[in-house]
Amino acid sequence: MGKVISIANQKGGVGKTTTAVNLSACLAYLHHKVLLVDIDPQGNATSGIGVEKGEVDQCIYNVLIDDVKADKVRTETLVQNLDAIPATIQLAGAEIELVRTISREAQLKKSMDQLKADYDYIIIDCPPSLGLLTLNALTASDTVLIPVQCEYYALEGLSQLLNTIRLVQKHLNKQLMIEGVLLTMLDARTNLGIQVIEEVKKYFQDKVYQSIIPRNVRLSEAPSHGRPAILYDPKSRGAEVYLELAKEVITNGERVR
Ligand code: ADP
Ligand code: MG
Repeated sequence: MGKVISIANQKGGVGKTTTAVNLSACLAYLHHKVLLVDIDPQGNATSGIGVEKGEVDQCIYNVLIDDVKADKVRTETLVQNLDAIPATIQLAGAEIELVRTISREAQLKKSMDQLKADYDYIIIDCPPSLGLLTLNALTASDTVLIPVQCEYYALEGLSQLLNTIRLVQKHLNKQLMIEGVLLTMLDARTNLGIQVIEEVKKYFQDKVYQSIIPRNVRLSEAPSHGRPAILYDPKSRGAEVYLELAKEVITNGERVR
């Protein structure tokens, strides 16, 4: 059975989508069957993995709201072993429409449970909020991976996220665990980065990945080419470190099981 991992942090611009796309691609590169699920109405993971939003007929919106079967909406990607379920701007309405739905937090879980047997990993890219879409992701997930940007106030706002995780554990998904905390966009030229790493490690201890994602221009260019870094520039530092992260995720999973 596949493991479902949400990439979540209600702060925008911390590297959620970059992590979702590149972790998915690297896990697939390491011969695992992977599904990348975009539940952010901005659809950045969708375009980042090379799926043309204009050509998408039905997206995750139809799965959540119209009960369309998820396997009807999934599509193959450029990356071998990697499928995706796209999001389009249509999803922006879902947050409000879900409110009227029975078991509104469990709509995504129903679909993911049907697909779990087909994959080793299902990676969900969350929107920058703690609304119903993120709640759906956390309810559907085995674990949550939290990207934290290496900047001042890195920990600010995380208590809100941790509270939400605790609430989900209490009421919606008892099994939910923290997969790990990923430091992103480290600028090695500044002392600030080192301070932030220490601060985050003090707080999250062994939950923090050894792999720390550097600021890397290839990682920011790759999405406009609709490719993960491992295809766009496999020799770039960004691609290398996301590959290291994928190996950590695989090894940690083996340890827990
Ligand atoms: P989020 O999904 O949390 O909003 P993104 O992954 O979209 O964050 O990243 C925000 C912006 O920063 C994007 O333009 C992305 O290309 C860029 N970015 C993310 N990670 C890196 C990195 N390690 N190095 C350079 N740019 C990055
Ligand atoms: Mg994003």
